[in-house]
Formats: sequence, C-alpha cells, structure tokens
Amino acid sequence: MKYTFILVFSFLFSFQLSAQKSSEQKPKLVVGIVVDQMRFDYLTRFWEHYSEDGFKRMIKDGYNFKNNHFNYVPTYTGPGHASVWTGTTPMNHGIIGNSWFNKFEDQFVYCAGNESVKPVGTTDDAGKMSPHRMKTTSVADENRLFTQMRGKTIGIGLKDRGAILPAGPTANAAYLFHGRDEGKWITSSFYMDELPQWVKDFNDSNQAESYFKTWNPLHDIKTYVESGQDINDFEGGFKGKATASFPYDLNELKDENGNYEIIKISPFGNDLTTDFALAAIEGEDLGQDQYTDFLTLSYSSTDYLGHNFGVNSKEVQDAYLRLDQNIAQVLQYLDEKVGEGNYTVFLTADHGAVDVPAYLQSVNIPGGYFNDVDFTEKLQNFVAEEFDEEGLIMNVSNGQVFFDYEKLNEAEVDAGTLEKTIVAYILKQEQIDRVITRSELTAGSFTTGIQSLLQNGFNQRRSGDVLFVLNPATITYSRTGSTHGSGLTYDTHAPLIFYGAGVKQGSTTQRSEIPDIAPTVSALLGIAFPNGTTGKPLFMMLDE
Ligand code: ZN
Ligand code: ZN
Repeated sequence: MKYTFILVFSFLFSFQLSAQKSSEQKPKLVVGIVVDQMRFDYLTRFWEHYSEDGFKRMIKDGYNFKNNHFNYVPTYTGPGHASVWTGTTPMNHGIIGNSWFNKFEDQFVYCAGNESVKPVGTTDDAGKMSPHRMKTTSVADENRLFTQMRGKTIGIGLKDRGAILPAGPTANAAYLFHGRDEGKWITSSFYMDELPQWVKDFNDSNQAESYFKTWNPLHDIKTYVESGQDINDFEGGFKGKATASFPYDLNELKDENGNYEIIKISPFGNDLTTDFALAAIEGEDLGQDQYTDFLTLSYSSTDYLGHNFGVNSKEVQDAYLRLDQNIAQVLQYLDEKVGEGNYTVFLTADHGAVDVPAYLQSVNIPGGYFNDVDFTEKLQNFVAEEFDEEGLIMNVSNGQVFFDYEKLNEAEVDAGTLEKTIVAYILKQEQIDRVITRSELTAGSFTTGIQSLLQNGFNQRRSGDVLFVLNPATITYSRTGSTHGSGLTYDTHAPLIFYGAGVKQGSTTQRSEIPDIAPTVSALLGIAFPNGTTGKPLFMMLDE
C-alpha cells in the first residue's frame, strides 16, 4: 500500500515536472525572419566580419542547416515567402509567381493584389492587398486556430507580399512600407479600418525621413576583401551619381530616385524595418502571455541591393554586415521584452541570386541574357504559320507558355499536338536548356532533378502548358545587377537557422528543404501542420 502510494506520487510528480518543462519550452513568441535574396554563402563569405551578437549568436547557440534548399521553380519573392510559411510549394499554395498570367481572366494578377479591399494609412493603391490568392494556411494561421485566436500574428515587410503572405489570412495585421512621397507603414481594410495608435505614432515620428542620410561603409572598405572592386562594370547604381561607388548621399539622390523609394534600395530600409518591428513588439504586447504570438518579419533591402549592385558587390557585403547588426538588435530587444529562453527565432531566405552573368562571362563561366520579348514573338509567329491560325498561344511569361484553349477548340487543334510541335521548336533556341509539358507534369511524379522542381512549382489550375528552362546563369535582366528565379543552386541554397526556446544546439549538412520549416515550427509548438504541408519536420533540432 505504502509502495503504491510512493509510486503514484512519484509518477504524478514526474508528470508534473515534465508538463512544466514542456510549457516552459513552448515559446511565448515566434519570430520568423525571411531575408530577401539571401544566399547561404553570405553567412560563410562574410563570417569574419560578423559580430558575436547577430548571425553568429544564432548559429553558435542554435541549429544551423547548412544544406537547405528551395525545392521548386520559380524562386521568386511571392512563392518564397508563401513556401516558408505554408510548408509547401506553389503546386499547392498556388502562389506561382510574383505576378502571373491568369488565363481565366486573360490578364496578369499580382500575388497579393486585391481590388476589393481599401488601403489603410494611405489613399494610394499600394494598400489594396490581401493574401486571398494563397490557397493553404500559414503556420501562423494554425497557431491562431489552435489558440482560439488568442495567440496574435503580426506581419511586417518592406514589400507587401513579404508582409502579407507569411502572416496568412487570420493575421491581426500585416504592415508594409509605402515609399514614394509618403514614407509610411500602411495596411489594408482586409485587417482593419484604421491604423492602431502605435503605427500612427511611428509614422509621425519621421523615423523614415531620418534615413535620408549618407550611406558609407560600416567598416573600412579596404577590409571588404570578400567582394569585387567598388567600381566595376556590373552594377546599376543611382540616377544622378556617375559611379556606383561609396559614399551615397540619399538626401541628394532622393529626388531623382523616387523619394522614399531610395531608402528601400539602401541598408537603411532594413534599419527602418527593424525600428518598426521593435515598435510592433512593444505596441502589440507580443510574447507577454501564455498564448504564443507570431511575428513574421521580412527584410527586403538586401533584394533591392542585389538587383541593383549584384551578388559580388561591396554594397551587398556592407548590407549584410549591417543586417547582422539588425539581427543582433532584434535578439537583444527580445531578451529584454520577452526574456531569453521564452522566444524562438528562425532565419531563412525567399530565394538566392545569381552572380551577374556579365561578370561570370568575364571570368569564362558560361552565362548570358535571354530576350523573352523576342522569343515570344518568334514562338507566336511560328505557331501561327505551322497551324495557319493566329492566337493559339495566349501568353508567354515566367518561363511558361499558355495555350488559348477556346482558340484550340475552334481551330480543332489538339493540345497534345501543339505541345509536341512547340517543344521541338523551343529546344532549337540557343539559350534554352530544357522543356517540359503539362502532359508530362500531370502524368506522374518526378522525384529528382529539375523536373521535380518544375513539378513542385506547377499548379495544375494556374500554371501554363509548356515550361522552359534557361541555361545556367542565363537570365532575362539588365547587364548590371543580379536576379533569381531558377532551380540552380545559386537560387535554391538558402540559410536556415533556428534559435531559442525548444531548439537544440547543433548543425547539419543533411539536406533540408524550405517546406520543412513550417511543420518544424508546428512540431515545436505542438500545433497542427499548415493544411497543405508537404515538408517534413526537422526533428533533429527539436529538444525532447
Ligand atoms: Zn525576394
Ligand atoms: Zn528579387
């Protein structure tokens, strides 16, 4: 009797202990950081320059996935942010591009655009946004459902799609930066009718305006030996400045470069995003009660800078050293406000970027530029001649050819015949590496290679009928600056670091994929996976 009592007592006691432990480990706040256009090698290339409190703190105390990849094409911002947070790919969440040709409406649609909502905080159309085109839930939505809407979600990003898609349809708010002549953080009537006081106060504080200042390198530029010469042939630069080289006086350049827009194309855009994120943690009381909150945070100046100056530029290097300070600032603020051990942070990217092809050519690496306007015209002319019928090809965009099925019916042209005819033609084009058709993509499942990436990015309803892939390091872009969108490793290899509550210390070279992130967060919180999840939880990094 006595022993039974002790056994039951010790069982209860240990149960209580473990219950207590798991509630302690459950973070009060999850901060998910997506760095726009961050390649994995930005961590390693600039490592010596980073402080102890930013990327290094996350890596040394957290879990570093060194072989983390996007597993679909196209690697753009909209699909990237959606895939990180929904745990799946465009095949299921439906965000197949930033913009795409909507064959049902015969027009282009923007991934976050919504004509039926109103801007809040501005009268500009920039606020007519919502996540209504995203077909599956974000992990932040699942947290809202799990907590009966008691856990909050706040989305923040310089870009509307970077703010809106991660936070999902149940978000309390998603705030985006509206530059041009206003320089304000705004939202849409999808979330609320009026900005909360803390956002109004932030906008009134003229914080954005304070960044109309001179951008100098953070450290002595002579120490930036990991990037190319400051003056080279592969950079865009700003209107009103002869060379793309330091220093950049934003106050002087702003009038010719879109006023507040220039802040986005400088590291100050990430500083401003940080300022606003800290104000949100305070203003929304994030991480202050037992219900886990989410802050989805997107840093996009890195993307604008990469597009302007290229992967190998001093400007991009400087932007990452400064982003490291932003990360340190966020972590320190979370320590103070939420408490070390009470929050979890993950950091990843929405895609990588290619080295400027003109630069690659200068060092004998194959690469080039593809003229999609020429290609479209040639393809349409070829098809018109071959079938003696105009307009069978409705549109060519994002590496996809869209058929006009009504015209096909009228002309009694079989879609399969059209597919075969144009595959042969497209493969004759010099800069095209391969072609795949709707028939092939819907006939079975590819498990490896570019075919599998194309399939994961292929939404049966929304995507086109013939998909083509350009040669490696071949882009449709200007001869200066970098871009992204392909399935090659420069675009797919992205950082993934987890840090904080519930996360083990460690690292792995085992492959992980972007859709693994969201179900990992679900597993950490013990909540349901996003409803379209195809990724797998990365159990190796979770505390037991
Ligand atoms: Zn992006
Ligand atoms: Zn980009």
